Formats: sequence, C-alpha cells, structure tokens
Amino acid sequence: MKKIIVLLIIILLLCGCEKEKSVESYINAEDGFVSINYPVTNINVLDDKISAYVNQTYYNFKNMKSSSTPELNISYTYKEINNDIINVSLQTEIVTDKVINKIKTFTYNKTNDKFLSMEDLVEDLNGLDYEIKKELLEKYQDADMDYLSNVSYDYFTIDDENLTLYFNPAEIKSKHDELIYLDIPLDSLKMLVDIDKNEGNDTYLSIKKRNVSLDDKVVALTFDDGPSKYTDKILDVLKKYNACGTFFLIGNKVDFYGDTLIRMLKEGSEIGNHSYDHKLLTRLSKEEFQEEINKTQEAIKRVTGFTPTLFRPTYGGYTNTLKSYTDLKFVLWDVDSRDWQVKTKDKILKNVLPNVKSGSIILMHDNHEYSLNALEDIISNLKKQGYKFVTVSELLELKKLRESE
Ligand code: ZN
Repeated sequence: MKKIIVLLIIILLLCGCEKEKSVESYINAEDGFVSINYPVTNINVLDDKISAYVNQTYYNFKNMKSSSTPELNISYTYKEINNDIINVSLQTEIVTDKVINKIKTFTYNKTNDKFLSMEDLVEDLNGLDYEIKKELLEKYQDADMDYLSNVSYDYFTIDDENLTLYFNPAEIKSKHDELIYLDIPLDSLKMLVDIDKNEGNDTYLSIKKRNVSLDDKVVALTFDDGPSKYTDKILDVLKKYNACGTFFLIGNKVDFYGDTLIRMLKEGSEIGNHSYDHKLLTRLSKEEFQEEINKTQEAIKRVTGFTPTLFRPTYGGYTNTLKSYTDLKFVLWDVDSRDWQVKTKDKILKNVLPNVKSGSIILMHDNHEYSLNALEDIISNLKKQGYKFVTVSELLELKKLRESE
C-alpha cells in the first residue's frame, strides 16, 4: 500500500512538472526606449542561456553613449520543430547614433538534453556550402569573399517553409545595418529530423454585444503590452464584475497565449494591435511599419480567427504619415494610469479615478502584478459611480450614434 502511494505521488509530481511556457516582457521609457521580450520555456539549461544573453545585452546597452534617446529592442521567435526539438532566436536591435543588429539562436533537443547545430539537422552541409555562399554574394554584393569563406552556420531558424540562416553583418564584412539572412526552402533540403507543420486555427469568434443605452455613462479599460502571465488573472477580475477590456497585444507573444486570446473574445473583451516587436514606430520606414502591423494581424487571426481593427502606437508615438500607412484605427487614451512607472496600487488609483469621465479611455498594462492589484478597486469604484464598461470599438460606435442624434 505504501509503495502504491509513493508511486502515485511520483506520478503526480511528474505530471505537474511540465509547467506552462510564457513570455517575459520588460518595456519602459526610462533608460531609453526599451522593449525586451523573450520566451520562458521552463527548460532550465535553455532558459539560463536565454536570460544570460538578454542580461548581458541590456547591460551593454545601458553603458552605451548616444546623443539622442537610445533604443533597445529584443524580440524572439519560438518554434517547436517537432515534439523533441525547440528553436529559439533572439534578435537584438540597438539604436544609438548608429544602428546595430545582432542575432542569437538556440536549438535544443528535449529528449537527450542537447543543443543542436546545423550539422545535426541537415544532411550534406558541405555540399550546400558553395550554393549558400554564392547566394549570399548575389544578395549582398558588398560582402567580402575572404571573410565569407569562413562563415559559420551558428544562427538559424526553421519555420513551416524555410530554413533561414542568419549572419551578423560584421561576420561577412558587409556595411549593411540590418541582419543578413538567407532563406533556404525546406523542400530543397535533406533534413535529418521530422518537421511538424502548424495548422492554422480558423475559429471565428465575434465580439458579443452588451446592453448599453445612449445615456449611459461609459468607460473603456485598455491594456497594453500583453499578453502575459497576468492576463488571465485580469480576465478573472473583468469576469467577476461583468466588465470588459480592450487588449492591445504585442504580436510576438500571441502564439504563447492562444487560450487567453480566445478567452478574451469569448468573454466579451476586444483585441487590438500594438505592433509585433514594440519598436519606436516613428523611426521605421513605411515597409517596416507595415510589417510590424501585418505580422501581428496575422498572428492574432491565426490563433483566434479574429482580425483586429484597432491599433495603439508604441510609447504613444505616431505621425499622420504613419497613420496613412494603415487602415487600422489609431487609439490613444485620455486617462493614463502610469502603472509601469508608479508601481503601487494607491498611486495607480490616484492617477485614474479622479480623471475618469464618460467616454474615457483608460490606459493600463497587463504585464505587471501591481496593475492587476489596482484593477479590482478601479472597476468597483467606477461601477458605484454608475459607469458601464465597453470595448473601444463599442465606445467609438456610441460616440458616433450620439453625434448623429
Ligand atoms: Zn506599449
């Protein structure tokens, strides 16, 4: 009997060990424009390497000199190549008086606890070598052939269609600012491992309508920079008070929180677009800006079947030119909780409650515990004052109806 109990406990412990993976975000505008997003896989050796890289990069950034406000963006891709193998890439962009782009990738086999190189994945790499260099030279004509002969294939990602090789610009002596990469179609390669393809999710979920009349006092809660490990708890609070929010999501995190996104829509909240990597947008070209928007639209659509119509610019920064590059509606706010800065419930309440009027849009963030802690008081206080909670789209609709009266 004792043995059975011990066995049961071991089984329970083993089942409980596979923790949910999540994304860690660090976004602020205090020591420059900083947007750091990286995956937490709950595989210790892999997570240690990822956080060591992130910490070192952030440390270096803080010690850099710049005549204008510096900017650091660390974004990632995460791909489960199959049941055993995970590929993570960390892309770093540092903007000071010049622009630096770097990449780091990790490929890890969970079954034998080993990091993998390209040689472990692709057959006959030597045979490919000539083709790769030829294509690199065609694509980047200023590359230096002498350096090219020594390039390594240390950095690569795999998606459903391509194996993508990355080269840090210094490595091939190119003057390009941006990362140098080469897509190789998987069909053209002999792979040594199986590759699982992602099936798209076509669920269509519509935002449910609530009962609000034209005379009602209304307010829209908005949450930026998620989804995160706190978002489900925010949804719990919204649900408890029969309230809703509009979540402006960072595209690169969407795949990690599919269930949370579906829950948002099911429970009457709305999803908006907050760019893919949370870069400072006013610096981007038209193409770069549109890519930030489109990649996020696609990620949200893939996971939920829902296509956002609202966009919130990062750091609240935009121009009319940027606005003309997209059909999405730019949504700002009139009540700023400054939660990321004041960090305590009392100060958040003080920034919000005295400033709310009917039609207000309140800015909060769903990637901090202190924002979650303040939310319940904000909602119950506003409810007592007779406010009803609507999504931003509903608020805009109401405003239109009121104007046409
Ligand atoms: Zn933001």
